Amino acid sequence: MVKKEFAVIGLGRFGGSICRALSKEGMEVLVIDNDEEKINEYASIASHAVVADSTDENVLKSLGIRNFDHVIVAIGDNLKASILTTIILKELGVEYITVKAQNDYHEKILKKIGADNVVHPEREMGERIAYKMMTKNVVDYLELSDEYSLYEFTATEKIANKSIIELNIRAKYGINIVAIKRGNDMNITPQATEAIHEGDILIVIGHDDDIERFQQKLL
Ligand code: ATP
Repeated sequence: MVKKEFAVIGLGRFGGSICRALSKEGMEVLVIDNDEEKINEYASIASHAVVADSTDENVLKSLGIRNFDHVIVAIGDNLKASILTTIILKELGVEYITVKAQNDYHEKILKKIGADNVVHPEREMGERIAYKMMTKNVVDYLELSDEYSLYEFTATEKIANKSIIELNIRAKYGINIVAIKRGNDMNITPQATEAIHEGDILIVIGHDDDIERFQQKLL
């Protein structure tokens, strides 16, 4: 993985878990929070931890924030601080800014002022969990566009012990199996003659309507 430099501003539950996950993957992470206790908590996890108010342009400048590949603004409750911080980051020329939005109104403003990526972690996680509860064979999914997605399905006995060609997946459903996970093995070039086992994780890509038709077959 290419080593990237990240900065996380705001160490609530969201910013904190972003910092932990990035650090665990060996990324350089600078964390900034105006609460000294938070900074002490993350000092041994992040590469650099600084007590600072992110609405102070000079502080961000002196930290060389514009040299970071990706800055995450994870200030939740204080909309004013979140918006002001984003404006400053944008003005300083930060390459990619992700901001946590508190509500739709906040999101609109963030997009207007040039945030590259706006996230609603609670809403997105709620939707993901609800979807998984409804569709028990779906392990995970990723929306690639409004119409196309990548899905991970667990293969049921309905399609087990048949090869991809026997199931005629591409012609019948118009979707592609791009990889098959079996235990710890990952086959990223599955052949048409490859037999599917019950419990395999199939990683498929296709149009949402076609994926849904395929999913019906699994049930
Ligand atoms: P979560 O839901 O992720 O726990 P939250 O939405 O409750 O977070 P807050 O607790 O409001 O978010 O803010 C997250 C962190 O951002 C806090 O640790 C807070 O100290 C920090 N923070 C708020 N304003 C600033 C600021 N101007 N500069 C630096 N840090 C700030």
